Amino acid sequence: MKSIVKSKKIISFFTDFTLAGLIQFIFLKIRRKVLVVRGSCNCCGNCCRAINLEGPKGWIKSEQYFQELLMKNHEFSRFSVVKKDQSGHLVFECKKLGENNMCTDYDQRPDVCRLFPDKRLTFCGGGLPDGCGYRFEEMKSFKHVLDNKLKHNSK
Ligand code: SF4
Ligand code: SF4
Repeated sequence: MKSIVKSKKIISFFTDFTLAGLIQFIFLKIRRKVLVVRGSCNCCGNCCRAINLEGPKGWIKSEQYFQELLMKNHEFSRFSVVKKDQSGHLVFECKKLGENNMCTDYDQRPDVCRLFPDKRLTFCGGGLPDGCGYRFEEMKSFKHVLDNKLKHNSK
């Protein structure tokens, strides 16, 4: 969701992390690794039935904050609250999901859908929905590979 994700401040990149997520993030950095997204969408529709959303002040964890965002941004009106998850985030479903698991508003879908899956989910206590065809994998960072290559060539 362009206007929502873009307005998010860099600081909240870290403040939304769970303790376990922060440890995992630091551990990855120490080992000079990054998370990458692998796999592909199998059109199960599960991410449209259980989705966490964020606003300028971070992930939506209360009805009050959701109502506040609804007043300011019409993009949120396609979502309705289903429940609260274990990490305190509200879980939403989308009214635009068709019976065949296809999006009925594909061309107008918000960036949160276009950018899914977001690797930050891992660090914020979230994860991929059951049945999702994507997965997160660790791999050596580009900088790490480049540094090794340069070191090797200079010998
Ligand atoms: S807009 Fe489409 S892709 Fe996005 S959550 Fe709704 S149904 Fe899914
Ligand atoms: S949960 Fe994963 S596989 Fe299923 S529709 Fe969403 S992105 Fe595609």
